[in-house]
Amino acid sequence: EQTALEVDHLSLYYGEKQALNDISLRIPQHQVTALIGPSGCGKSTLLRCFNRMNDLVENCRIEGDIRLRGVSVSDAQWDVSALRRRVGMVFQRPNPFPKSIYDNVAYGLRLQGIRDRRLLDETVENALRAAALWHEVKDRLGDNALTLSSGQQQRLVIARAIAIEPEVLLLDEPTSALDPISTLVIEELMGALKQRFTLVLVTHNMQQAARVSDYTAFIHQGKLIEYNHTD
Ligand code: ADP
Ligand code: ADP
Repeated sequence: EQTALEVDHLSLYYGEKQALNDISLRIPQHQVTALIGPSGCGKSTLLRCFNRMNDLVENCRIEGDIRLRGVSVSDAQWDVSALRRRVGMVFQRPNPFPKSIYDNVAYGLRLQGIRDRRLLDETVENALRAAALWHEVKDRLGDNALTLSSGQQQRLVIARAIAIEPEVLLLDEPTSALDPISTLVIEELMGALKQRFTLVLVTHNMQQAARVSDYTAFIHQGKLIEYNHTD
């Protein structure tokens, strides 16, 4: 298996407090890797290092390195937005923009300057299909995204993230604000998405990790204590 992300002796401090302690880890391509562990152990902090979201945090200091396909995420070749086009992120609470369903999915393409209507239409449709949402929304693409259920909103956010074809999709507790049925739909979706993307999933739910992940990294008090192929 090829390596998508390589974490190399990563430590992270918020001021005096050490949140990550010498973590080394290989995230394989086209697999779902789950980061699990108790609340406060550092899962989200580690996830946010993959697309440099901690850069915004005052007092945050990082040692060690993360490489995306061999290139350090702090390499000068990335401005942060270039990095985030390759490493997309989905949060716990669905956060669609208060715009139409179509405009949400087209957002990243338009940021890249794409204006061709046919290309936009086609990409929006493909992303919605890949997010298992197309049939539910195809007749209402102009509706405001906030009129969708929260399970649909989360799939829309996934469609928005994958429309620009990132390599890696980071998912931070993507189902913990959702009902059980929507949770199952998204768990099934993760299985399909890994054919095209590398997924890193933060969850505190061991059953979910067992259901969807190929690899499981157990984190405890900022340390990686175990890394396994999921049975
Ligand atoms: P988890 O995702 O496993 O619940 P987090 O990564 O959110 O854990 O947090 C790890 C530790 O770092 C916790 O003790 C948390 O309180 C602390 N922490 C998280 N973000 C910040 C921040 N911006 N400033 C200071 N401490 C933080
Ligand atoms: P629905 O919205 O009714 O679930 P879709 O056609 O959107 O129907 O998707 C059906 C299933 O096929 C979903 O589970 C989805 O994950 C999967 N799927 C559809 N298109 C793709 C694609 N391009 N890549 C990966 N999986 C896909």
